[in-house]
Amino acid sequence: MSWRVANSLETLKAQIDTRFPGRDIAADGSIGDAAHLTRGNASDHNPWFGPGIVTARDFTHDPAHGLDIQQVADQLVGSRDPRIKYVVANRRIADNRSWQWGSYDGPNPHEAHFHLSVVADSRCDESQNWSLPILGEAPDGGGGGGGAVDGDFVTWGTSVNVRAQPRLDAPVVAVLAAPTRVTVTCQARGDRVDTAGHSNDAWAFVPALGGYVSNIFIDHPDTWLPGVGEC
Ligand SMILES: [Zn+2]
Repeated sequence: MSWRVANSLETLKAQIDTRFPGRDIAADGSIGDAAHLTRGNASDHNPWFGPGIVTARDFTHDPAHGLDIQQVADQLVGSRDPRIKYVVANRRIADNRSWQWGSYDGPNPHEAHFHLSVVADSRCDESQNWSLPILGEAPDGGGGGGGAVDGDFVTWGTSVNVRAQPRLDAPVVAVLAAPTRVTVTCQARGDRVDTAGHSNDAWAFVPALGGYVSNIFIDHPDTWLPGVGEC
């Protein structure tokens, strides 16, 4: 039987391929592999929806090329994109009902790849770009001036590091190539950062990026952001 992969998954693959050139694809996959088929269940990797549409794709963990499956999976869950059915990564699963990670005890722990299933309806074929910070597609904050929501800010500068902790020796979990719209949920005192004649020891926590950005790179005149609590 003929089959194809849902267009939304082809879009994500194209975005990931562009963002991480030369990435490892050893654990990538779309059509059901032997392991999925022999289990005999309705794996989303089988072309079961409508005219032979596969509604799942796996993407290989390859941190050396920048693709950390936990980071991408966290950003997918954080995006709450209506095309998502569920995401599996590192022994955890999050679905479109709770958008929360819970334990996953399937036979494959999903440590070498993450799995994305999209919904089995017409939305699976919607091919607009996925809005993930790591892919350089910041969520559309609705802008238009005046209507800013507490916690929504824009970063400035290029190659801005996002770190796991508000310290300069903490691991870099993401890099903002260009000004990016971010939602800050809390802020913390940490290492002082000096740049462009300014000094600031406050750091903004951005869950969608999985870490902290020095407030010095948040485009706001105050060193301590208004309307944002302490972590
Ligand atoms: Zn899978």
